[in-house]
Amino acid sequence: MSKKQVFQFLDVPRDMPRKVPLQLRTDGDWNELYGRFGQAEAVHQAGRCLDCGNPYCEAKCPVHNYIPNWLALVEEGRILEAAALCHETNPLPEMCGRVCPQDRLCEGACTLNAGFGAVTIGAVEKYIVDTAFEQGWRPDLSKVASTGRRVAVIGAGPAGLACADRLVRAGIAATVFDRYEQIGGLLQFGIPSFKLDKSVIDTRREVLEEMGVRFRLGIEVGRDVAIGSLLSDYDAVFLGLGAYRYTDGGLPGQDLSGVLPALPFLVQNGRIVTGREPHGRAIAGWETSLSLPDLAGKRVVVLGGGDTGMDCVRSAVRLGAASVTCAYRRDEANMPGSAREVANAREEGVRFLFNRQPLAIESADGSRASGVRVVETRLGEPDANGRQRAEPIAGSESLIEADVVIIAFGFSPRPPEWLDTLGVKARENGRLIVGGEGRLPYQTSHPRLFAGGDCVRGADLVVTAVQEGRDAAAAIARMLRSEQQPVAALDA
Ligand code: FAD
Ligand code: SF4
Repeated sequence: MSKKQVFQFLDVPRDMPRKVPLQLRTDGDWNELYGRFGQAEAVHQAGRCLDCGNPYCEAKCPVHNYIPNWLALVEEGRILEAAALCHETNPLPEMCGRVCPQDRLCEGACTLNAGFGAVTIGAVEKYIVDTAFEQGWRPDLSKVASTGRRVAVIGAGPAGLACADRLVRAGIAATVFDRYEQIGGLLQFGIPSFKLDKSVIDTRREVLEEMGVRFRLGIEVGRDVAIGSLLSDYDAVFLGLGAYRYTDGGLPGQDLSGVLPALPFLVQNGRIVTGREPHGRAIAGWETSLSLPDLAGKRVVVLGGGDTGMDCVRSAVRLGAASVTCAYRRDEANMPGSAREVANAREEGVRFLFNRQPLAIESADGSRASGVRVVETRLGEPDANGRQRAEPIAGSESLIEADVVIIAFGFSPRPPEWLDTLGVKARENGRLIVGGEGRLPYQTSHPRLFAGGDCVRGADLVVTAVQEGRDAAAAIARMLRSEQQPVAALDA
């Protein structure tokens, strides 16, 4: 590499793709916030990589992408090779490039953070894959030989899609079942379109179908089809069920009118914005037909500081709220949400109140929410998870006035009852137990059932779900290879 290339970061500052102008966002624009790099911008930004020889970015990326290698290919204009390399480690790179909290992952580990600003890895990843798909590139499966084996994947979220991708690459037929009519899981019905345009999921569906993945959508396993019939029709089953048990803060007043649970709010709003229907299936105990109050001109308070909370505050801005406040019980440094999303929310006018623990939702007229009573906190000793506890400060109570309160305290898995009947074990918090005790990685206590993503980890990230789906497929392939007798193909 020439001297000029090595020191390009001295001349070229870190830059992100252009954002939708602020005025449009606050006027209700739902388009993806970040545009896409043009070729020259992508080459410039990719060229900032130092190729430092010890790529911390790769180590910090949960799927261990070959980041410096594909950045070098972009610099050389070899986009199709870069796309193939991206897919070697990541079955859904265009999604991760958009929604990963890069500041905590690859970009957070970039050597250039020491005074120069990290390489914009996520935006280049998005550029590579979007551009390659537009140019007609598709994963090359020409050398894949069919094994005659067949696997059912339950859940078309990132874990299930990643698993299906790797199965078909290993010559194993994959059929993906989902209760919704659209693929994507929370990518489709959860994450708002200003973070991920839904056409990106359509393109991925086309690509997967061309690779041979079959989708059976609008089918809920345990209701429309029995797990027993999948176990007899397929050689193995992967569970990518997600985590949909809503964390109930048990706040007095949470049943008042004007109080909304976060995910149904986002799903219902998303279906209005995109016109896409999850087809009336219940999410986290709430029907998706939740009627949304008009937020225009309202004072909205969102409780919780994770990705879901950030999506709620930024959605409320676009819905014309008069004011949007996020109250979080720890300080900013301890917020689980991505720092970039917090910065975008601030730019869009969201007010953050840190170290505020909600005590109750209050009502002036006994029926509608009129405010949230909070107490200030200070950070104390670490809890069982190593996070400092938020300890209330006596005498520091106050009221945040609100017309609408959105509760975004997070989610945990809820294993369906039919898993019990098969002896599949879960922890007390609902997370399915996989691996260990002589089992393959991602294998549950039932030898033919594997699992990954949020139903195993608890609510986490798209990229960790992708990593687990990918690696579970490798474990399934290993198990099937070690067996002599293929199970007969029964699927019509
Ligand atoms: P899911 O995406 O939940 O998919 C599970 C799928 O299984 C669903 O489609 C469901 O319908 C299906 N299913 C479940 N049971 C059955 C059944 N019995 N029969 C048929 N189908 C079934 N992560 C990020 O990295 N970045 C972000 O910016 C981000 N933002 C988020 C915003 C919100 C509002 C939320 C809620 C989460 C966000 N996350 C984000 C987290 C991320 O979306 C999840 O960690 C990820 O989607 C988990 O993938 P999964 O495949 O395990 O589950
Ligand atoms: Fe970074 Fe996520 Fe891409 Fe890994 S998958 S390089 S963490 S954006």
